[in-house]
Amino acid sequence: MRLTDIWKRNIEEYGPYPLLVFQGKEYTNIECDARSSELAHALVELGVKRGDRVVVTMPNSPEVIIAFSAVLKAGAIIVPVLPLLQTQELHYIFQDCKPKVVLTVEMLWTKVKEAANGLPAPPMIVTLDDPDSLRSLRTRMEQAPASLPTSEVAENDPAALLYTSGTTGRPKGVVLTHRNLSMNAEAAAEMAKRLPTEFERVGLGVLPISHAFGFTMMNVALLLGDKVVLLPYFEPKKALEAIERHRVTHTAMVPAMFHALCHYAEADRYDTSSLVACISGSAALPPELAEQFQRKFNCLILEGYGLSEAAPIVTATDPTKPIKLGSVGLPLPGVRVAVVDEHGNPLPPNEVGELIVSGPNIFQGYYGKDEETRQALRDGWLYTGDMARIDEDGYVFIVDRKKDVIIRGGFNIYPRDIEELLMSHPDVLEAGVVGVPSPKMGEEIAAYVVVRRGAQVTEVELIEFCQKRLAKYKTPRFLKKVGYLPKNMIGKIDKKKLREWASEFIP
Ligand code: ATP
Repeated sequence: MRLTDIWKRNIEEYGPYPLLVFQGKEYTNIECDARSSELAHALVELGVKRGDRVVVTMPNSPEVIIAFSAVLKAGAIIVPVLPLLQTQELHYIFQDCKPKVVLTVEMLWTKVKEAANGLPAPPMIVTLDDPDSLRSLRTRMEQAPASLPTSEVAENDPAALLYTSGTTGRPKGVVLTHRNLSMNAEAAAEMAKRLPTEFERVGLGVLPISHAFGFTMMNVALLLGDKVVLLPYFEPKKALEAIERHRVTHTAMVPAMFHALCHYAEADRYDTSSLVACISGSAALPPELAEQFQRKFNCLILEGYGLSEAAPIVTATDPTKPIKLGSVGLPLPGVRVAVVDEHGNPLPPNEVGELIVSGPNIFQGYYGKDEETRQALRDGWLYTGDMARIDEDGYVFIVDRKKDVIIRGGFNIYPRDIEELLMSHPDVLEAGVVGVPSPKMGEEIAAYVVVRRGAQVTEVELIEFCQKRLAKYKTPRFLKKVGYLPKNMIGKIDKKKLREWASEFIP
């Protein structure tokens, strides 16, 4: 199925209904679809052709959803870019994918313009909230052709180019076809349908729609006929207000958001009893946090795992099966997973190795990067770069990223083990652990921790806490209390940055 067909199916199956609620206003599915057709016509008039790249960079709003759909109707490829990206990061993406048009908002115009400086063929920049820009688009629409190239687009044509956030290197453009994305959304919807259904589904959209996880959750909402209360960005107070006011039944968030809601001092003042389930993905959800959240909000947490290269969901918690704490669940319908050693040989249950994935959701390759593609895609399997184990019942447990493993004196150490231990300390809010080069041991372990406001715990006490609970070789050599941890735009600890910080410990 093409992504544009998801919209058709939504309208045919559910008829007109308020699809989005944004800043107090409702937007029906019919209205969004009509507006995206108008914009698609304008894009065609601007010269956008099948296969061209169109960057969409704006905060969450109905316009993002309309813009995505318009780009696809014009037969082009969406390049969703998180609005918080810095000018030089945006410049890199422009250089790499050579977009024909950038759809954005006035607030970001200066940055986009600067990022386009020096490009041999700068893109046209259209600000969707600027009346002048819209007026000139409307004039074009009036002269626009009656039909759109949608019908020429095939399932296996690229639909999106997603840039990985680059927490482990230079961002790479992940090429995903209509089929990759629609099959993944359908499989995820299949899993979501297994939740109790005696309520009207109302979702809360707090993830950036310009990120793979948020994008797919939006497609899932269209497939299930959900109403979605959309926030421009995540803020605990706004999220809780929306849950209470709109009787939100479910949401998808990253662990940093679960953490923020759990620690929001006034959370108890809101009626969140409508919440049935919260999906967590994108980074490891510490079991302590999962339990704390479930207790506080009395709702189910369904953890999933994925990566952009898998469009993006690989595994999810099946609400009809037993939930295993610390596991990211079972593969989605149609998706296969295995754990292999460094030679690609399958490992028995519960042994840790690299997780590999195959299925209709697996990407086509990195845009213009053949060598990286060959490394990631081998014999039809995606090598995820994540270390994991699969138990005898098929449940997947993510251990850590392969690139983050610390090798100290020949022993493999998974930073996540140490981070979770530190976070189990009552005074620790967050922890990030990385390796520091050491001439003697190969690498030493450095931990950065954020402690609760007013907590008196010392760095030495925290090292002692680890010493008592961890094998000696796993105990951090260096530990420092900090005010915050470096994070990427989706709230994951930026290990590249943290390693830069940790260079302070190199003698
Ligand atoms: P990169 O750093 O490789 O450039 P990224 O972090 O931006 O990319 P994404 O596709 O956004 O790439 O994230 C995918 C990665 O997130 C996975 O490979 C995995 O390491 C991590 N991840 C996702 N879900 C989970 C989870 N539930 N538990 C642990 N890790 C997870």
